[in-house]
Amino acid sequence: MLQAKVTGVDPEPGRGPRPDVVLAVENLTKTYAGASAPAVQDVSFEVRTGEIVALLGPSGCGKSTTMRIIAGLEDPDSGTVGLKGREITDLPAHRRNVGLVFQDLAIFPHLTVAQNVAFGLRMKRLGGAEISRRVDDMLRIVELPPETFRERMPGTMSGGQRQRVALARTLVVEPDVVLFDEPMTALDRRLRDRLVIELRNIHKRLGIPAVYVTHDQESAAALADRIAVMRAGEIIQTGTSLEIYSAPRDLFVADFFGDINCLPARVVRDAGGAMSAVIGDRTIPGIVTGISEGDALLCIRPGQLSLSSRPSERALFPVELRSWHFDAGVFTYYVSGQGGLTGMTKDIVVTSTKPAPDVGSGELWLEADVRDLQIFPS
Ligand code: ADP
Ligand code: MG
Repeated sequence: MLQAKVTGVDPEPGRGPRPDVVLAVENLTKTYAGASAPAVQDVSFEVRTGEIVALLGPSGCGKSTTMRIIAGLEDPDSGTVGLKGREITDLPAHRRNVGLVFQDLAIFPHLTVAQNVAFGLRMKRLGGAEISRRVDDMLRIVELPPETFRERMPGTMSGGQRQRVALARTLVVEPDVVLFDEPMTALDRRLRDRLVIELRNIHKRLGIPAVYVTHDQESAAALADRIAVMRAGEIIQTGTSLEIYSAPRDLFVADFFGDINCLPARVVRDAGGAMSAVIGDRTIPGIVTGISEGDALLCIRPGQLSLSSRPSERALFPVELRSWHFDAGVFTYYVSGQGGLTGMTKDIVVTSTKPAPDVGSGELWLEADVRDLQIFPS
């Protein structure tokens, strides 16, 4: 018999398990036989009541391995998985109350929609009337009205509808946590965006905690309460989309969270001992913390920059307009730096929902709030 061990323990000793932690993943490490590096290394995160946490990272960074370990389809070399305060690391997959929605939907093509959704309930040997009621309720929740869809065969439905059948089949058994592993990668962008919103609404209605794996930052931001960013087997930052966007831990994370301009700069210590950033022939005093002297990159989002025809106190340095375009409500300007700015291989991108004043006539200044500048070692 398995020892029930308490996980998700509060860092403060003596306080016992945290009741709001549903899934507690602690220090998971896994190296596949013959591999030179671990697929997953010291991965820890938790999912709290009603929460969606996204695991976000490029292909091959260990997302699916983490999910398979949580589901019990793979054993970790070390580390633990706790569900509702009980350690389940050694529990077989079928005895964990964990729902799975993977990209390959594994819907039974020879069964009707209702039979597909009823599958897990039949395995639980529930009565016919109860199964029928729960299937219909769930079909309504995923917006496949049972009157229309109960008897349909999956082959006669669109990709998005089949996705919802898979979702209904997973949710109907009321799992403690649902794991989504890139369930929408095969769908086109618009459909995916729509399903992500629907999924969020369904999730909020049912309140089942979830882990959502994706390499797509926009899906993660639209769906998740918190995001854990993975790279090369490790979680390198966890936070809300806004927290990570505004304070990325490094350039990899910054870049993953949308377009960003990176300007070559130098970090210097001024006479008073404070650290300043020198960019071109402009010195930006007192903004630098947690970095040593030397070459650095000053990074800023296109939407945090603006253009002006005269130097204001927000001015960084003069620029020259290279080109611009307008699309979907946003003006995008490409400018190149003047004023001793060297080493830039790309134009600086500035976006705005309003047209920049007088571009192309006379002088042009790049402006920013220096507090928006992020600095990374280069
Ligand atoms: P992701 O889901 O983020 O794309 P995976 O967890 O699938 O990443 O893979 C992480 C690493 O482990 C990759 O280098 C991958 O090639 C390797 N890997 C995944 N599954 C296996 C397996 N069954 N056997 C050996 N190596 C694997
Ligand atoms: Mg994967």
